[in-house]
Amino acid sequence: MLGGGLMTKLYNTPIKTIRKKCLDCCNDKVKEVRLCQAVECALWPYRFGRRPTKAILDTIKEFYSKKVEPA
Ligand code: SF4
Repeated sequence: MLGGGLMTKLYNTPIKTIRKKCLDCCNDKVKEVRLCQAVECALWPYRFGRRPTKAILDTIKEFYSKKVEPA
């Protein structure tokens, strides 16, 4: 039943949903999500379930500045 003070959420925010997907991707291993190297994955910047830190943004910039497109 909905309402009546029931606090169960039917769905998460998009960012929390991304976090859940990353945990799913890593067999619910928090450490593995942290260590994920898949910078090109669309979810990567948000894998901690929060706005990306400067360190994360710097890593992305570094990654794409070095990336060479295939000929
Ligand atoms: S960012 Fe990493 S952990 Fe998250 S879905 Fe992509 S590959 Fe999986």
